[in-house]
Amino acid sequence: MIQNRLKKLRQLMKERNLEALLITNANNRRYMTGFTGSAGVVVVTADRAVLLSDFRYRTQAPREAPDFEFIEHSLVMTDTVGELLGSMGVKELAVEGGSLTVSAFEQYKAAWPGVKLLPVDSPVDRLRMVKDESELAIIQEAADIADRTFSHIVDWIRPGMTEREVALEIEFFMRAQGATSSSFDTIVASGERSALPHGVASDRVIGKDEFVKLDFGAYYKGYCSDITRTIFIGKPTDKHREIYEIVLEAQLACLAGLKPGLTGKQGDALARDVIERHGYGDLFGHGTGHGIGLEIHEAPRLSRSSSAVLEPGMVVTVEPGIYVPGFGGVRIEDDVVLTDGGIRILTSSPKELLIVG
Ligand code: ZN
Ligand code: ZN
Repeated sequence: MIQNRLKKLRQLMKERNLEALLITNANNRRYMTGFTGSAGVVVVTADRAVLLSDFRYRTQAPREAPDFEFIEHSLVMTDTVGELLGSMGVKELAVEGGSLTVSAFEQYKAAWPGVKLLPVDSPVDRLRMVKDESELAIIQEAADIADRTFSHIVDWIRPGMTEREVALEIEFFMRAQGATSSSFDTIVASGERSALPHGVASDRVIGKDEFVKLDFGAYYKGYCSDITRTIFIGKPTDKHREIYEIVLEAQLACLAGLKPGLTGKQGDALARDVIERHGYGDLFGHGTGHGIGLEIHEAPRLSRSSSAVLEPGMVVTVEPGIYVPGFGGVRIEDDVVLTDGGIRILTSSPKELLIVG
């Protein structure tokens, strides 16, 4: 698996004429090497693959990253990396422009005067867009945890609880199911607050006759899941039902049409067209979906500005919504993997309007 990633990375580096790559992004370091520690950098050339970290990881790093040479760097990391670059005769070093800070860049430039630093879009980000079987298996498990949690919460939630209590139960339940943590700040947005697309749980008491939007995910073995369901407490009005049905129709239309070869913009339009047709286009202001993986938001995006072309193995969310200020909002979100012919849906919680209490 790691050997395969290394082979693909070198292929991409060759295509882009990159002699040497310095990996500083923590998720990219983990993806390429298997090393889960919190510090370290990676240097890859056509014939060397080196992981450098500090004393704390002397034992762990070589064990987790057997396909890489391990070097324990001295107190000043840049000294050791500088010696390594010198010994390999590296003249030009590609760095990850999307994540390296300006101050680190300046520090490296000063430390390695004989090396030209070349900020690039990391080729590792490109590789990470397409998940392999081992990653898909983990993301499926993370999605299963989210599904079990939703089913538990539907039985457990009652009017009179605060949003924060519900968020705590969601997070506790996911941890009890094996998650390391939640994959982002849990959103529990009830009543008027459900019109906030990213209303993280507050002290608001959940009342009667209102929507509760639940958006959460499990962080599991390094990977994220991400699910949204909107439930109703009490008795919905026609307006509540109307909005819910439109969002559901949009979500199902996107799931039915999503397939490799579409651009992110075309994928977005599958859901957006439905909402616009019903006259709610202005109240759906965010993209239809985003990639998930080691990070909760990664490429590719399903949005009006995305030219990314969907490929088998990419994992994205499908999450249209309608948000009516002062009234409430609905979002329905699933995680899906692109397959040869279309998609496979990873989350399986029910999507008809669930009425509680
Ligand atoms: Zn979400
Ligand atoms: Zn999402």
